Amino acid sequence: MKKIQSIRGMHDILPEHSPSWQWLESIIAQLFTAYGFEEIRTPILEQAEVFTRAMGQTTDVVEKEMYAFNDRNGDLLSLRPEGTAGVVRSAIQHGLLHTPGLKAWYRGPMFRHERPQKGRQRQFHQFGAEVFGLPQPGTDVELILVVERLWRLLGLSDRVRLEINTLGDKQDRLQYRERLINYLEPFRTQLDEDSQRRLDANPLRIFDSKNPQTQAIMADAPRLGDHLGDEARDHFATVCDLLDQLGVAYTVNPGLVRGLDYYCRTVFEWITDDLGAQGTVCAGGRYDDLVAMQGGKPTPGIGFAMGAERLLSLLEADGTEHRQVPQVYLVSQAPLGFTLALAERLRERLPDLLLTMDLAGGSFKAQFKRADRSGAGLALVLGEAEWQAGQVQIKPMRGDREPELVAADRLDQALSHWLSSTDQTPVIG
Ligand code: ATP
Ligand code: MG
Repeated sequence: MKKIQSIRGMHDILPEHSPSWQWLESIIAQLFTAYGFEEIRTPILEQAEVFTRAMGQTTDVVEKEMYAFNDRNGDLLSLRPEGTAGVVRSAIQHGLLHTPGLKAWYRGPMFRHERPQKGRQRQFHQFGAEVFGLPQPGTDVELILVVERLWRLLGLSDRVRLEINTLGDKQDRLQYRERLINYLEPFRTQLDEDSQRRLDANPLRIFDSKNPQTQAIMADAPRLGDHLGDEARDHFATVCDLLDQLGVAYTVNPGLVRGLDYYCRTVFEWITDDLGAQGTVCAGGRYDDLVAMQGGKPTPGIGFAMGAERLLSLLEADGTEHRQVPQVYLVSQAPLGFTLALAERLRERLPDLLLTMDLAGGSFKAQFKRADRSGAGLALVLGEAEWQAGQVQIKPMRGDREPELVAADRLDQALSHWLSSTDQTPVIG
């Protein structure tokens, strides 16, 4: 029969690769916790309206990337294309916004029907964070600092650069929109097709176009930053000033508009030149109107999301560098019940021990072959004679150290001693 394949653009994370994921997840979990964030886990499937309302009808994601379908009840549902809208839905639903200052982080798969290519999957994974109820510029800066610290922890500081911009407040954007349309109208037919469509619906998004001719036209367009209200201008000036005080390097990119409708004021992206066209590893911004759009009491918010696959490929982490091999491999000719009990006793006394017991059995030769392949540094050998005598042999798999015969009831002590005096650098066969 023909083998069944996974869906295009949706990838398995295989056992050999998952150690890198677990490593990255543990670093990020620890980092968020240190800054006072708590994890939130929302469903992968939501009412499609959660996303269409939040993201706007004319964004790429809603227009052409969402996996939406009618379920058996006829409800229009969608696989989440991003995390923020669901977190906001949840925070409103459970009254988490009553006191200002909720800091939530999330991780997990997101789904977008895009053209699969390097750095672009249809199921991909994000880490993200959101802060609610704090309109002060210090919040924007602290969020940026969390990510800056992550780059330092991962050794990536020199490979990513921070770009920031401000999108002003709603009123600023409405007035600016008119100016931009007036500027672009004479160029209408010279814009790429997508941008022509956006000219009426969402002209700011034209800054996002990758088309060179469109980009050239946009280079001379009026800048939103020159048409801000006082409050938005002060807010952005404070953010920039704090970043300067803290020695955070950034450039202000007036063309940075972000793909989603809900952003306002501060927006930011970290970009790398090392991943080709898919160079944005982390992106975010303020969304002071989103909670109200989703039916909650007006509450400011700000957040970011980063792509896990892009991060891991930047780190060239393919699993091998964090792979755990067993420390000890147990080969035995004793009765199965006895061998299992011995292994259990060891696990009881040495909870951190990485022990693999040979379950396939057979000759010592066959078992040792598997012990060798496992990469374990030590073998525990339980032959017929050792079993009868109540002993176990500790035998190094490599090197010339002599094996040691120990009484089964003090095996844990002897093993601890061996493990602390043996080179534990894993050998991957
Ligand atoms: P892009 O411009 O690359 O399409 P985006 O603006 O659509 O990115 P966001 O919605 O801001 O991306 O998502 C945040 C991050 O999630 C991105 O910076 C990227 O690292 C990652 N990401 C987004 N879409 C994908 C995808 N299809 N495959 C892998 N990672 C993705
Ligand atoms: Mg995209």
